Amino acid sequence: MKQAAITGIRQAKTVEVPEPVPKDNWAKVKVLVAPLCTEYKGFLSGDAAHGYGHEAAGEVVEVAQSCRVKPGDRVVVQPGTACGRCAICLSGFFIHCPHSIDFETFTGSASGRDALAQYLLKPDWLLCPIPEDLPMDLASLAVCGLGPTFAACDAMNVGAFDSVLITGLGPAGLGGVVNAVFRGARVLAVEPNPYRARLAQELGAEIVLSPGDPQVTQKIMEWTEGRGVDVSFECSGDSAAFSLCGETARRLGQIALIGESEAPSLPLSVSKHMIRKGLRLHGVWHYPLPAFPRVLQVIRDSPVIGKMITHVFSLDEIQQAWETQAGGQCGKVLIRPWD
Ligand SMILES: [Zn+2]
Ligand SMILES: [Zn+2]
Repeated sequence: MKQAAITGIRQAKTVEVPEPVPKDNWAKVKVLVAPLCTEYKGFLSGDAAHGYGHEAAGEVVEVAQSCRVKPGDRVVVQPGTACGRCAICLSGFFIHCPHSIDFETFTGSASGRDALAQYLLKPDWLLCPIPEDLPMDLASLAVCGLGPTFAACDAMNVGAFDSVLITGLGPAGLGGVVNAVFRGARVLAVEPNPYRARLAQELGAEIVLSPGDPQVTQKIMEWTEGRGVDVSFECSGDSAAFSLCGETARRLGQIALIGESEAPSLPLSVSKHMIRKGLRLHGVWHYPLPAFPRVLQVIRDSPVIGKMITHVFSLDEIQQAWETQAGGQCGKVLIRPWD
């Protein structure tokens, strides 16, 4: 089968690797759509430290034993290899499982570990059913496209009375616009890239400000009539954005930290921001499994969801796909490994 490979700094191609073989309750999935996520960072640096994809939607083609899925099932592939047995997995928050199974030790090969390939292997319980009438491309947004900010909306109970600040409009932040607007909230976003600012407005953001605007804080406060925003989705990983979320949060407001960050600390003041304002902070990665049907409901019923997907490439075009993603003139970029 074909699989993506990084061969140097900003160099990628497809390589032939053996097809994976299902084992125990791990099923073989034909990957029909693999959305790109953080792997482009590895493409830029020339190492594959960010892996070769963890998001996918596809069709089960083979199982080793009778299990929760069968050949022909259309499925969203959840990320990771959580154990499925510990208290955290049983609570649904499998993404935080401390006992993840080592793929290569379990299967005896690296083949089938990654989503940017024609087939992958996955424990049956991490394969969630896609209704017949839901297009595969849209269903694939149920992983990181909508997932992190869906979890943030649930954690902070976002609804129609809320003002939502979103800092950073990469694919996760754009998904935040879709989720917050779907729940009836008002959205203001902060993002320097004009392409993504425009896209966020098409998805329903009322206003998009540039972080370089010297009046950005004041404008956010004016947008909330001086009260401050009810909830923030921090999707940029940038320290200046952490401060902006703290400064513009209303009293008793909430902030979800969603964007991965290399910043060594969080520039929020214990007294000024946390205690006096009574802020609540949430670290958010992915939604728990019981939320999956509601994530699908957003995909089915949001009138703008399709706009999140701006580019679709074949696996053979992986070089061009990662160049596009690195250039930032895109929303969610999808790979179709069989095109
Ligand atoms: Zn576990
Ligand atoms: Zn992802």
